[in-house]
Amino acid sequence: MQHKKIGVMCGSSDACPEKFLTLAYQVGQELARHELDIIYGGGAKGLMRRVADGGLEAGAQVHGYMPEFMIAVEWQHTNLSELHITQDMSERKYRMMSESDATIFLPGGCGTMEEFFEWLSCKRLGKYIGPLVIFNFEGYYDPLIKLLENMEANNFHNPEHKQMFSVCTQVEDLVATITSAPSWSADAIQFASVRHASKER
Ligand code: AMP
Repeated sequence: MQHKKIGVMCGSSDACPEKFLTLAYQVGQELARHELDIIYGGGAKGLMRRVADGGLEAGAQVHGYMPEFMIAVEWQHTNLSELHITQDMSERKYRMMSESDATIFLPGGCGTMEEFFEWLSCKRLGKYIGPLVIFNFEGYYDPLIKLLENMEANNFHNPEHKQMFSVCTQVEDLVATITSAPSWSADAIQFASVRHASKER
């Protein structure tokens, strides 16, 4: 049977504290240990490289997706199971989203956040139905989780929208967090708009 593919979004920085890089390596290994394959942005730096190396060394298939303009400046990891070259960023994200059964967000910068909000927005519309896991390592994503709570408190999201993402803080809990995520379907479009009634809350 084909292994499930887990998208991993994370920072491309090498200058972050070493503990984040170590986390990414451990996540790659943990996914491989559970016979899960990895989809990521194909980079050779930062957490991106470490998650790929952790996965490869523990036997996962690791698929990178990188646009041509990044290959032109040699940003790609040269030892992946497969490197898929895309025309642009939009195709890269489209293919990564369509091909992943779940997506994890490790610490990262604006690129990782752009991906998080694109995946979340698609989930809200029922266009992505896989689990989304925020890896809140040592509170890194506390401000993001607070922002998401604020969105609901101010009626920019419906209460059901908090089921769109799960939070994990430890590598050992990662796979259980993915498998226990609330189910989601294309019907999410039915409650994607915020209801007027929730104004009275
Ligand atoms: P960030 O979280 O801002 O580091 O963004 C990660 C995302 O930024 C990746 O998916 C890439 O789109 C892009 N990126 C930025 N720098 C690099 C790099 N050196 N190698 C690969 N991808 C990069």
